[in-house]
Amino acid sequence: MTDLQAGRTESFIAPLRVVPGKKVDLAADFDPKYEAGVAKKADGVELLRVGIELLAEYQRRLAAEQTRGVLVCLQALDAGGKDGTIRHVMSGMSPQGVRVANFKVPSVEELDHDYLWRYARRLPRRGQIVIFNRSHYEEVLVVRVHPENLDRQRLRASARGGNIWKRRYREINAWERYLTDNGFRVVKLFLNLSKEEQRIRFLKRIDVPERNWKFSAADVRERAHWDAYQQAFTHMLNATSTEWAPWYVIPADRKWRARLCAAAVLAHTLIDIDPQYPKMSAPARRELANARKELEEEANRGSG
Ligand code: AMP
Ligand code: MG
Repeated sequence: MTDLQAGRTESFIAPLRVVPGKKVDLAADFDPKYEAGVAKKADGVELLRVGIELLAEYQRRLAAEQTRGVLVCLQALDAGGKDGTIRHVMSGMSPQGVRVANFKVPSVEELDHDYLWRYARRLPRRGQIVIFNRSHYEEVLVVRVHPENLDRQRLRASARGGNIWKRRYREINAWERYLTDNGFRVVKLFLNLSKEEQRIRFLKRIDVPERNWKFSAADVRERAHWDAYQQAFTHMLNATSTEWAPWYVIPADRKWRARLCAAAVLAHTLIDIDPQYPKMSAPARRELANARKELEEEANRGSG
């Protein structure tokens, strides 16, 4: 990767980053229709194709190096485009090196543990990229918007009192810091969808039979809490965009642009990590040379 390409990726994604320490307001500061300097879909699709190839190459290097890992956290409201983004971003990668972890309503077993337990169990290994389709951030989003979820977590009164959200932000930041310090980069993408675009996508899920399975009546009930979610997102962005794991707000009203932006952020991270194919030691190189000689001699014997 040349410095030029690294620089271009940086300036492309910089406007999407929630600058750590700077207060943002989701509605005022981030437009779901932001063009990101790519006005035409055809240009965006071509850029995405190039980006996917680049991701594939870096993923091979990350897997070969087996030293660092990457965790991608994907958050969005229903119909925000998480599934399509995952499908595209992963499309060039080797299935051996990537994994998706989906997080739904917690199971009984999961509720028997501390709230980060189920996320910790699905973390990447060294060499791996893992995408969290929904993530530990649900613990300060859906759980905050619907506090009855907290009842199921059976916390002691003392652990619920005070400012539980502030404490969770602190714990999450510390956990991500710990992961980063230990070689695992945390990439956080929030797909920012407008209320009107969500309405249109829901209608499509109802009207197109092949999409019916993606829709549930509960999605419309959840939509009634739109403002509470926007607030929870704003709080989350302000409290958990850190130097080691900043948030990126992805304009999500155009699917192709959302995919391009998501791919660019991930590419930026991988370029920064710059994983390397392992260098052969002198003895290992000698071993390779011996093996080559043996294979060549075999051919000579065969033809002789
Ligand atoms: P979907 O991603 O559409 O299949 O839906 C998964 C559902 O699980 C969503 O409605 C989320 O709000 C819900 N969910 C995910 N994580 C949690 C959590 N930690 N607590 C409660 N509900 C959750
Ligand atoms: Mg859903």
